[in-house]
Amino acid sequence: MKPPKLREGVDEGGSTLPRERMLSPDQYQVLSCFDEDARRAMEASARHAIAYRSGLAGAPAKPKKRPLELNGLAELPLPEIGDDALSVIESLVSEASDGLHARASPRFFGYVCGGSVPVGVAADFLVSAWGQVAASSWECPSLALIEQTLCRWCLELLDLPRESGVGIVTGATVANTQAIITARDALLARLDWDVAKSGLFGAPPFPVLIGADAHSAPLAALRYAGLGTDRVVRLATDDQGRVHLNGLMEALARCEHAPLVVLQAGQINTGAFDQFEEAIPLVHERGGWVHVDGAFGLWLHAVPELRGRLAGVDAADSWAVDLHKWLNAPYDSGLCIVRERAALVQSMSARGAYLPEVGESWDPSDSTLELSRRARGIPSYAILKYLGAAGVRAMIARHCALSVYLAELLSAEPGIEILNDVVSNQLAIACQDDDATTKVLERVQANAKVYPSHGVWRGRRIIRVSIINYATDRAAIDMLADEILTAHREIASGSDPLSRSAVNR
Ligand SMILES: *Cc1c(COP(=O)(O)O)cnc(C)c1O
Repeated sequence: MKPPKLREGVDEGGSTLPRERMLSPDQYQVLSCFDEDARRAMEASARHAIAYRSGLAGAPAKPKKRPLELNGLAELPLPEIGDDALSVIESLVSEASDGLHARASPRFFGYVCGGSVPVGVAADFLVSAWGQVAASSWECPSLALIEQTLCRWCLELLDLPRESGVGIVTGATVANTQAIITARDALLARLDWDVAKSGLFGAPPFPVLIGADAHSAPLAALRYAGLGTDRVVRLATDDQGRVHLNGLMEALARCEHAPLVVLQAGQINTGAFDQFEEAIPLVHERGGWVHVDGAFGLWLHAVPELRGRLAGVDAADSWAVDLHKWLNAPYDSGLCIVRERAALVQSMSARGAYLPEVGESWDPSDSTLELSRRARGIPSYAILKYLGAAGVRAMIARHCALSVYLAELLSAEPGIEILNDVVSNQLAIACQDDDATTKVLERVQANAKVYPSHGVWRGRRIIRVSIINYATDRAAIDMLADEILTAHREIASGSDPLSRSAVNR
């Protein structure tokens, strides 16, 4: 096969071309803007994508191979001579296939991940093909304006203050980071300290309060924001992981400056919500800033019948929410939402000291840490157009109802316990002891009909189930329950056919 990037007549020794023999620039063929090879590569990519997604509902729910069996993939040599585009795509597919995890499958219940609705994936192809830098509305007019619409739609759907600033970021970790940096700057500005000019050294030490069962992401965000972890006050929580209001009041009474308080909508093990209606006014009385990590749980606020479970959350000052979780958008996308848009823009805009003026253009990069960025909001826009607000609400309500249904199926079984109150889409499932829980989980994962993941809650190992995929239906939940119950009965009766060492983690 002829390496396409060398001129006719040049040594085509392929990968054996000696590295020390530099080719002069005119010996390289300039690539054509688009040729038959490019067309075949793009068509092959779409064909493989379609084949993968159309087979997913029946595919095993675990990867064929784990990292140790794919070692060679990390050691591939840098090719000296390029290959044609179609071959690159074909070999990529064969390299990747055995190590793909069916995370987009309706029978994947691990962690908390959405399944990327196909219309969003299709829109994502276009985002890459269009090759826009969606930083500026002047330079990328249509996609920037569509992203602006997406932000407005999400505020409406999530029922958050409509004038809020929104940055479309890679996920909730970055959304939490951006919001916490913005909160830091705003709280210090109220103490007459300009972080942008003076930095953090010598700044007045405002307090930071966060629940003991917060996700690791906002804790990392506090580190990234220079607020440290040792000086952060961890607030005591109840059996569902919610901040105790009394503890919050006591901690607030000890605050010498207005604090940053990080609350949570959707604890990863229990799906629980902090008591926003009571907690947020307490913080605001002290002049503080409330940030809510709502990576998946904030989506319940889109559903009028369920909104009461997180009543008052809209009174916060900032929120982090993922699009790639409950909206089932392709990775990577999340939203950083800040009530006071000017504060977000002031902290994030790379233009430095910047205050947006009324009527001024809306530039995506003003609300994110990035300048050049792909138009990552477009797939979510496509998904919202496809589902409509009613479709999103119905999906979330269905997941919450299926979670209650699964809890009923499992808790009827002697020896199985649901450790959490099922208030959203998360279940923390435990068997009679840690050993049994581990064995049941390993058995279920090895069978690969369904895939729940592991966790630890209140000192006990759990099987953690997250019901969040757009295509998960009652039949998938019946299969999940059946898999857990069958494994549990076999293990409880000592007829466990699977040795633990056979299971890859
Ligand atoms: C998933 C999750 C995060 C982190 O989100 P990423 O999108 O993975 O960056 C933060 N907080 C909670 C509660 C989460 O569930």
